[in-house]
Amino acid sequence: MIEIKNLSKRYGNHYAVDDISFTINDGEIVGFLGPNGAGKSTTMNIITGYLSATSGTVSIDGYDILEESTQAKRLIGFLPEQPPLYIDMTVWEYLTFVYELKGCTFNKQKHLDEVCELVKISDVKRRLIRNLSKGYKQRVGIAGALIGNPKMIIFDEPTVGLDPKQIIDIRNLIRNLGKKHTVVLSTHIMQEVQAVCDRIIVINEGKIIADEKTASFNNAVNQNTRYRVKIAGPQKEVVKLIRSMVGIVSCELHGEREGDAFTYDIESAQNIDIRKSLFRALAEKGWPMLGMEPIGMELEDIFLKLINAKGERK
Ligand code: ADP
Repeated sequence: MIEIKNLSKRYGNHYAVDDISFTINDGEIVGFLGPNGAGKSTTMNIITGYLSATSGTVSIDGYDILEESTQAKRLIGFLPEQPPLYIDMTVWEYLTFVYELKGCTFNKQKHLDEVCELVKISDVKRRLIRNLSKGYKQRVGIAGALIGNPKMIIFDEPTVGLDPKQIIDIRNLIRNLGKKHTVVLSTHIMQEVQAVCDRIIVINEGKIIADEKTASFNNAVNQNTRYRVKIAGPQKEVVKLIRSMVGIVSCELHGEREGDAFTYDIESAQNIDIRKSLFRALAEKGWPMLGMEPIGMELEDIFLKLINAKGERK
C-alpha cells in the first residue's frame, strides 16, 4: 500500500505539487492523469524516493520513503520518464548491472531470464541497447524496473515517443503486470488510463481534482451530449425546430454545406439522449438526417468539467 499524506513540493514561489493526499491499495492499477506541467513526474519522483518533498509524507507498506528508504525502495520498481539506460551495454549486461545495484538475492540467471521472458526481450538480450528500437528500449527499462520482483511498479509516461503498435504492446504489458503487481501509471493521455487502469486520479496545477473508479470517471466524462449532425432542409427553420426541442442546450450552424444540407453542432442537457426525438422531429418535417457523429471531449474540456464538478460539490 502506498500512502501519501499532505505532500507538497515547492520550487521558488511555485508549488509543483500542492498538498495532495491519496492511498493506493494492494492490487490496484491506478492512473495518474494530468496535462503537462500538472505535477505528475514530481509526484512519481517523490513517491519513489528520487526527489525530496517540501512537506508531507510517503509511506510504502508502512515504510517511510525517506526514513526507511532501503526497505521502502525494495518494494517499488520505477520506470522514469527517461529511463537511465546505458546504451553501450548489451541488454543482458544492463540487467545484470541493475540486478547487482539492487542487491538482488534471487538466482541471477533464472530471475533475469524470467524477466526477459515476461517483457518479451529474450530474443534481443545479447544486443547493444543503442541498436534497439524505442519500443524495445522501453521494454528494457521495464525489465530493469521488474528486477527484484517489486510488489509495486510505477510507470511515468511509458508510451511517449512510441509508435501506435508499440503503444498497444506496452499498454498490454502494463495491464498484464497489473495482475500480479500494484501499478501506478502516470500519463497525460486519457485513453491510456481508460484502457489500462481500474481507478483514475486526476491532477491539475499540483492539486488532485478527481479520484474515481474508471467506470464512474468514464460516466462523468464520456456522456455524449454533443453531436455534429448533417440535415437536409431549410437552415433557419431547422435551427428553430431543434432549439425548441426539450433537452436541447444549443444548436449552432457548423458551416459545412453540401447541396441543401447543412451541418450543425447540437448539445443536449446531460442525461438526455436526444437522438431518437431528433430523428422523429426531423422525419415529421421531411428533413432527412444525413449523418450524426458524437463530438468527443478534449482533455481540456474534461478538466474544466471535473474542476467545475468539484466546485459544485463543495
Ligand atoms: P508533469 O510531469 O505533470 O508534466 P512536472 O511534475 O514535471 O509535471 O512539473 C510540475 C511543475 O513543476 C511544472 O510547472 C514544472 O515547470 C515545475 N518543475 C518541475 N521540476 C522543476 C525544477 N527542477 N525546477 C523548477 N520547476 C520545476
